[in-house]
Amino acid sequence: MIHDTIAAISTAVGEGGIAIIRVSGPQAISGISRIFSSKISLNDAESHTVHYGHIVDPSSGEKIEEVLLTLMHGPRSFTAEDVVEINAHGGVIAVKKVLDIVLLQDNIRTAEPGEFTKRAFLNGRIDLMQAEAVIDLIRSKSDRAFSVARKQAEGALSKKIKALRQTVIELLAHIEVNIDYPEHDVEEMTSAYIREQCQLAIGEIDKLLKTANEGKILREGIVTAIVGRPNVGKSSLMNVLTQENKAIVTDIPGTTRDVIEQFVTLNGIPLRLLDTAGIRETSDIVERIGVERSRDAFQDADLILFVLNHNEPLQSDDRQLLQQLEGRSVVAIINKTDLPGHLEMDEVERYVASDRIVRMSVLEERGLDGLEATISEMFFEGQLEANDLTYVSNVRHISLLKRAKGSLEDAIEATYSGIPIDVIQIDARLAWESLGEILGDEAGDSLIDQIFSQFCLGK
Ligand code: GDP
Ligand code: ZN
Repeated sequence: MIHDTIAAISTAVGEGGIAIIRVSGPQAISGISRIFSSKISLNDAESHTVHYGHIVDPSSGEKIEEVLLTLMHGPRSFTAEDVVEINAHGGVIAVKKVLDIVLLQDNIRTAEPGEFTKRAFLNGRIDLMQAEAVIDLIRSKSDRAFSVARKQAEGALSKKIKALRQTVIELLAHIEVNIDYPEHDVEEMTSAYIREQCQLAIGEIDKLLKTANEGKILREGIVTAIVGRPNVGKSSLMNVLTQENKAIVTDIPGTTRDVIEQFVTLNGIPLRLLDTAGIRETSDIVERIGVERSRDAFQDADLILFVLNHNEPLQSDDRQLLQQLEGRSVVAIINKTDLPGHLEMDEVERYVASDRIVRMSVLEERGLDGLEATISEMFFEGQLEANDLTYVSNVRHISLLKRAKGSLEDAIEATYSGIPIDVIQIDARLAWESLGEILGDEAGDSLIDQIFSQFCLGK
């Protein structure tokens, strides 16, 4: 049972001028009623009502701030406790002053990061997976990542895990019956049933794991390297993509020395752009080193944007890069199409499939749509639809799903090697527990603390 009341500034994502102070716990209503002056007493107010009034300093009677106050009785609130939300539109200083007065009240203290969400979890209002999704929601950098996190927060993925767990529970129940009533000698049938049921669950787990890669991309961005000879337009491309002038653009080959990293969202797809640009420094010898160095830089990239100059014939560095990029996820960008063409396209097409070649004029900002469509096609096979955004994207969930799968595979194997059924039961039980851990059912306190400590204050 939670006895204390917590408070923090908890301004929602995307909200501008208004700051919300959220207060949750047994003293939320009585505590705030002592510092709130309005027509009615909060203690008599009904749940889910909004009240206009002033926060007053109880020691001086001074009105500190004009506020709108929302009142919710537990369990019909985010934390399942009594909650008061103070909407203040004054500046930072006024809001801070209100919070200070709130925190002077008996039994009201500052909330730890994530503590509101933690309470929602501890009070059974949300499962652990939904709580983690709230973390992702706060952190999500792109629109698409945001909808994935929101979907998850709404419980789409939880629902799938629960269904999976149901399959395993049925299996467990079946095994249990066999252990309790061994005189029903149905050993053979049981083995077949165990295999079938495990296979069913494994199939579902595999489906979820398959989404993990896409989930990772959505959360962390596609690590993208822009490569190509000096002066083909890499920095210009980077600039157009970021719409900021953080990368250096210049006519002098090799000015961009260090790898610059930028996070951009292209048509809802998050890219983490590395500009491995202009590595060449002065002489031809260094140019060769440059190519090697840029190879190092793009080694870890998920996606390589290989820029070529439409206005010049292929050079030996271009050819070398073309060869190095074989087998990688590459988009060849034929840049400077505003100038006359001298590039041997047939040779380029020998290395890069034609649907991975995009013609652009970065200077005139033409061809961006084609680039977006190509990347989108590559990473989501053009199948990503706004209403089908259930992804496993959390490392902890992925490893627990893999663990559950391992246990189920052990169970299947055991049925072939004549291992007693109560040992198989242990495997099934482990699978059930791993799945439960995803939802937080079997989560130990330390795990819960670790997860909630990732929150920002006020959530
Ligand atoms: P990097 O060395 O590959 O990073 O190339 P930069 O981005 O620094 O560009 C080199 C030069 O090419 C600059 O003068 C750019 O303005 C120019 N440039 C870039 N893109 C285009 C384009 O599409 N058309 C033309 N005509 N010039 C371009
Ligand atoms: Zn550059």
